Amino acid sequence: MKMPTTWNGWATRVSLYVREGKKLLGEPRFPIKIAEIARDYTRNVFPGDPITHIEGKNFNGKFEGALVPNEAREWAIFYDTGHTSKGRINFTLAHELGHYLAHRHLSGEPFYCSRRDMWEWDSAYARMEAEANGFASLILMPPDDFREQTRDFRSPTLASFEPLRNRYEVSLTAVVLNWLKTTSRRAMLVVSNSGFIDWSWGSEPLFKSGVFFRAKQVTIAVPDRSLAVFGPSQNVFEIQHPAGVWNEREPVFESVVFSEYHDMTLSLLIFPSTGPDRWPDREAEPELLDTFDAFRR
Ligand SMILES: [Zn+2]
Repeated sequence: MKMPTTWNGWATRVSLYVREGKKLLGEPRFPIKIAEIARDYTRNVFPGDPITHIEGKNFNGKFEGALVPNEAREWAIFYDTGHTSKGRINFTLAHELGHYLAHRHLSGEPFYCSRRDMWEWDSAYARMEAEANGFASLILMPPDDFREQTRDFRSPTLASFEPLRNRYEVSLTAVVLNWLKTTSRRAMLVVSNSGFIDWSWGSEPLFKSGVFFRAKQVTIAVPDRSLAVFGPSQNVFEIQHPAGVWNEREPVFESVVFSEYHDMTLSLLIFPSTGPDRWPDREAEPELLDTFDAFRR
């Protein structure tokens, strides 16, 4: 059988393998656990240099995961034991499997993947990182099922995504980003830390309507009246803001989750379906959140 040459070709191939395999075994399709399939799959397809070893290692948060060959041309995947979320580990394993299938011939080097590389989803180093994330998302959250599961998401809160994080055994961040990549809603995920914005990701329709963040040059505080600023003690996890909180011209529906990982706050911002007239006053533009981190597209 001809081998795929791209990361999405590989994702489709492995996805089919898992779906058909589960059907044969009479087991549920989800969650797809990479630790269960990586060794068997690579031993069958690449008997000359398979993945033979998957192990937790204490990287002290420096790396999320790694893909490393030994002298016998076998490969090992290591994941950080510095955190306990099994969803995060599953995603990391899928990411490393993506490197193995799509990139191991290209670099000739071991892969060591930091949280920044993996989770900012925009770093320039990161064409391969972005591809490995794309592979992981496609494998773990196949589009046919994901579409079905999110069909009724009109104005979702972060809580709406909780069942999906369990269904697919991934982190909440990974599920929300996957939704943002395909939704027709104008929406954005903002990740902040101690009241300051760390990174953000907006949906394509939001970006096209002129709401996006400029490249990060300075440290930016989350808005004063946002939920992100208050922390969990306030016990409010969703709110409809008027214009002037997250955005000068538009009301924004914000939901928050605190500390998915250490001291991180996630805010999901849902904007009105249609944006205001995009350039009412060219002189005044750009005015929207213009000091945030932009995702380079
Ligand atoms: Zn990587």
